[in-house]
Parts: sequence; C-alpha cells; structure tokens
Amino acid sequence: MKILNPATGTLLREIPETSAPDIKAKLDRAVLAQSAWKKTTMEDRLKCIKNFHDLLEKERETLARDLTLEVGKPIQESNNELSGARNRIRFFLEQSQTTLAPNPVRTDGGMQEIITHDPLGVIANISAWNYPYLVGVNVFIPALLAGNAVLYKPSEFATLTGLHIERLLHESGVPKDLFTAVIGGAQAGEELLKLPLHGYFFTGSYKTGRLIAEKVAGKLVPIGLELGGKDPLYVTDEVSELKKTANAVVEGCFYNNGQSCCAVERVYVHARVYDEFIRHFKDETLALRAGDPTDRSFQQGSLTRPSQISFLEAQIEDAVKKGAKILAGGKRIPGPGAFFEPTALIDVNHSMNVMREESFGPIIGIMRVKDDEEAIGLMNDTDYGLTAAVYSTNMERAKSILARVDSGTAYVNCCDRVSPYLPWAGRKNSGLGATLSTLGILAFTKPRGWHLRG
Ligand code: NAD
Repeated sequence: MKILNPATGTLLREIPETSAPDIKAKLDRAVLAQSAWKKTTMEDRLKCIKNFHDLLEKERETLARDLTLEVGKPIQESNNELSGARNRIRFFLEQSQTTLAPNPVRTDGGMQEIITHDPLGVIANISAWNYPYLVGVNVFIPALLAGNAVLYKPSEFATLTGLHIERLLHESGVPKDLFTAVIGGAQAGEELLKLPLHGYFFTGSYKTGRLIAEKVAGKLVPIGLELGGKDPLYVTDEVSELKKTANAVVEGCFYNNGQSCCAVERVYVHARVYDEFIRHFKDETLALRAGDPTDRSFQQGSLTRPSQISFLEAQIEDAVKKGAKILAGGKRIPGPGAFFEPTALIDVNHSMNVMREESFGPIIGIMRVKDDEEAIGLMNDTDYGLTAAVYSTNMERAKSILARVDSGTAYVNCCDRVSPYLPWAGRKNSGLGATLSTLGILAFTKPRGWHLRG
C-alpha cells in the first residue's frame, strides 16, 4: 500500500497490507489474549492506558508531524487533535472504574438484585482518517478498559497514525495480541466482517456503515456506527454580535477543511440580520489562507483525499447551475497538492446537492430564512441527524428550536465541538449507538442481571 502526502503528492512510505490469513491469525491470538485480559484488575488496565496517555504527549512532535504528512491537516490542528485525544482518555480514566463496577440496584426481602458488565470479547474497530486519534480513542480505549481485545483497522489514509497507535499501546503495557492493527482498505475491512467477532464499531461514511450493518446483521452482535452529517446552523434575528458569530461559524465550517463529521454543512440566517452576517462571513472566509500544512502561517491545509476535489467541483457546478452565487472561493488551488479554496455559496436552496449531500470539504451553503418555523423545517429536511446549532441571545428560544430538530447533539451559541462527558450519537443516517460519556463505556459490555436470594 502506498502512503502518499496529499499536500505534495509525494510517496511517504510503502507498507504491506495485512492478508486474510494474517487477519484470521490475529483474531485467534486475540481470543486467547482477551481471556487473560478480562481477568486483570481494573487498576492494571488503567495503568496501561495512563501510560498511553503520557506517551502521546512524550512523542507529540513525531505523531503530529506524521499525522500532518499523511492527512494534510495544519500542524497546529494535529497538535490540537493530540491534546483532544488525551483529554478524552482522561475522561475514560476518570469514569471507567465507577461505570463498570457492579451496580446493586435493589434489595427486596432476601433478594438482592445487581447489574454487572461483562466485556463483549474481541471487537473490530474500523476507523476513519479525518481525526484518527479522536475517533480511535472513542472506541479502543473504553473497549480495552472494559476487558475486550481489539482488531483495529485504521483508515488506509491514516495508516502511519494507526501504526503509531499500535506501537504506543504495546509500549504502554497492552499485550501485543490484545490490540493489533489490520492494515489495508476496504478489502481488509471486509475480511473482518467475515470473521466471528463479538462486536463491530465503525466510524466512516453512511454508505460503508450501512453495508457493514447489513453484512454483520446475521451475527447478532452489537454494532456501533458513527457516520456522516449534514449539520445545520441557524443564526436568529436577535444575534447582535454578528462579526463574532460569523467568525465562529466560519471556523465551524472550515476547521480541518470541513472534513469533520460535525462540521457545519448548512447555514440558515434570519432575513433581518442576513446582509450584515454575509458581509462578515465573506471577510472571515477570505482571510483564511491555504498552504503547506507544516508551515504554521497557513490556517488551511490540503484535503486528505485528492479525489474529493472533483466531488466539490460538481457540488459547486450543480448549485451555480440552479441559481447559487459564489460569495467566496469556488475553485481548487493550482499546484501538486489537493488544495481547495474555502468556498461560500449564497442564494442556495434544497434542490441543490450542496444542501443535501455531505460535502466533507471546505464548502458551505448559506440560505436566508424568514422565521424560526422556516428554519426548523429546513434544518430537519435531511437524511442525517448528527448535530444542529442555533445562535441566539435568547436561550429559551434557542432550546425550543433545537428540541424540534432531530439530531443527537444540540448546540446553543457554539458548534463543531465534542465533549467526552456527553454522548456522541447520530440519528437517522448519522449512526447507531453512542460513543463517549458513560454510555460510550457501557457500549463495549454486555449486561448481566443477578438475582441473589441469600
Ligand atoms: P469510509 O466509509 O470511506 O471508510 C471508513 C473505514 O471503512 C475505513 O477504514 C475504510 O477502509 C473502511 N471500509 C471501506 N469500505 C469497507 C468495506 N466494504 N468493508 C469494511 N470496511 C470498509 O469513510 P472515511 O472517508 O474514512 O471517513 C469519512 C466519513 O466518516 C464521513 O462521512 C464522516 O462524516 C464520517 N465520520 C463520522 C464521525 C462520527 O463520529 N459520526 C467521525 C468521523 C468521521
């Protein structure tokens, strides 16, 4: 497998893919490793994961550099991602012991009722490239803490990072056969689906997530799907600090080049503040500079997958043909790398692909709305349901709007953020199940109800 730098098109490394027999052998060894691991104490597991947390900091420079080289994100964003991953790991270190402890729920006469949580066994973690550390730790850290083994398939676009994760977990004390990387693309992923694993946890596109759900359905094992989004944001008419709001929304749209599951993908603005908001939005967008992601003076790096450029061009062409106007950007940046101008489109509507398909790139459509009812209708007019945001100085109004939007995450006066204390749970085509929060720890266990008559 060739690992290419998307910002230059140059070859970084060639790495052999894991063959089907090797994947099977990894599973066989993982089964044995898991039966020993589930007997270890929580203190021992926590110690290993704390070591991993510390190693991410110790090796930060190398890890951030390799992440930037293989996915094209600005070096400061790679550093932010590592800090964010460590923050999530601290949450799991803090919460796992109490969440996984036996829970005596009721004593009734001579009967004691207790809930305990057993590990699932060996799980597959099929992962994405856009935040490989963040979306990875959401799964493999609580899975390991709960007593599972993990066959971890990093995305083929984040293989170097996947191998760093495997190496650092082993250096941290996690047994070699308990956590192993399966290297490759769709084919390696499909091999995992054929094997008798005890759970499938996937982060990626709706298309692949659905295919995985269909293929493993007959196994009747837990699946977790963290999929895409077409996340809406509504600016109400009471917002007075429109420059500040536009600045925050621009960041929500274009951070990581829009390649975030929770990136803002549609903006609705109340007609009363529309003109001023658009003026600021344009200025803020034009201020973003794209270039060499290892150079800290650029805010925008390269897209990770060069093939995404033609997808973005097609969305723009479709929108312009149907009447949209380009407010800023609109085209790829010439050169060897996969660079694209941060692009804002106005006069858009829901007949255009840019308002319906996940763009997963630096493109945003902005639409004027006459009132909250119209905004709510449009926000819900989507197959996805990951996040939704409202900017307003009236908390009650913002909350009542969001209560009517079908999304797993609701933001008031913020967007494009994740907290480890809250569940990350997509609705509709955005996914199934939850990661993070205590729910995202229990997701890697099966419950047992104890009826103990003394
Ligand atoms: P993708 O679906 O192309 O690939 C994801 C993973 O699935 C990769 O490891 C890939 O090799 C593997 N895969 C591909 N085909 C497979 C098959 N047939 N069988 C088994 N495995 C297969 O997604 P991507 O491009 O890596 O990630 C981008 C998508 O992920 C976006 O839609 C984004 O919104 C979503 N995402 C969601 C979240 C979330 O938390 N909801 C987080 C990050 C990314």
